[in-house]
Amino acid sequence: MKADIPDFKCNNCGICCKKYVGSLMATVEDMKRWEDEERDDILERTFLLADEFHHFRDDQLIADLWITKQGNEPHACPWWHRSTGCRIHDTKPQQCRDYPISLEQAVRDGCEGVPQEVNP
Ligand code: SF4
Ligand code: SF4
Repeated sequence: MKADIPDFKCNNCGICCKKYVGSLMATVEDMKRWEDEERDDILERTFLLADEFHHFRDDQLIADLWITKQGNEPHACPWWHRSTGCRIHDTKPQQCRDYPISLEQAVRDGCEGVPQEVNP
């Protein structure tokens, strides 16, 4: 659940994308959506942690993100672009949609979506 931060407005600064890229995971629902959307370009950057995911709960975390084309951990999110921000915004993983999960996390990370007057 995204934190209820008054007047929060993401400006696509990319701070969270850089900080959490090594620890992101996809839910079952993310994987099913990408299958339905035929987003092979996204699916090929995931590493499934079980042979089959259709019998897991939709909110369970089931795949590592975003492996490189060589199958390694990424140094940067492949979907981030300096001028346009997230290039898969409409279908980005649930964990990215949920960020930040608290005002404390946002402030600690330097998230620019928190209005200065809310920033304790
Ligand atoms: S998928 Fe989008 S929101 Fe998530 S880390 Fe990458 S660029 Fe950021
Ligand atoms: S750190 Fe905050 S403002 Fe920057 S991209 Fe992430 S959510 Fe948006």
